[in-house]
Amino acid sequence: MNKLVIASNNQGKLRELQAMLTPLGIEVFTQAQLGIGEAEEPHPTFVENALAKARHASAASGLPALADDSGICVAALNGAPGVLSARYASGLHAEQKNNDLFNNEKLLRDMLGVTDRRAHYYCVLALVRSANDPQPIIAEGEWHGEIAMQARDEGGFGYDPIFWLPKLGKMSAELNRDEKAQISHRALALKILLGRLNSRLKNC
Ligand code: IMP
Repeated sequence: MNKLVIASNNQGKLRELQAMLTPLGIEVFTQAQLGIGEAEEPHPTFVENALAKARHASAASGLPALADDSGICVAALNGAPGVLSARYASGLHAEQKNNDLFNNEKLLRDMLGVTDRRAHYYCVLALVRSANDPQPIIAEGEWHGEIAMQARDEGGFGYDPIFWLPKLGKMSAELNRDEKAQISHRALALKILLGRLNSRLKNC
């Protein structure tokens, strides 16, 4: 598998996935480069949405496709924003996804006065060889931290300016790309996915 379409229009995810996949000799295309529109994400679980996105991009491109469905889950909010992370401030049916500033402001407001700040990022990656692949490869990763009391807008994307890593004494927005690529939910999921892909290729 040396060509792959990434089924996302999220620039943050694309930058991170491209940086992790390109050194492996994989030629990576984004769905936007191939003129493919965004898939619907109507499902209540990350894994279902990841598969829907991967199948959509593979059907439209004829290439193997990798999709990422991810979000931030806050313990004191019973796992919210969860699968709705990209549309937390604007609502499920809003056209506009990924208004990071509004999403962060809403989450900080919802956490006003809350002492249990525990949260984790969650990422599911789904890889399909073709649109109807009966054996997609699926992997997940979690990254635990806390919701900060206020934003520190240094870099990263999404909730990174308010995702506090107590052991590192930093927001995830303050990590450079290489540091984040060692420990993030996405990096962990990709490592597991590539391991599964390798054993699949060996055993085929
Ligand atoms: P999706 O495109 O529906 O999977 O949206 C995922 C959303 O989760 C993004 O828009 C971000 O708000 C958030 N998210 C996922 N991964 C990260 C990350 O690594 N950093 C910051 N926010 C993230």
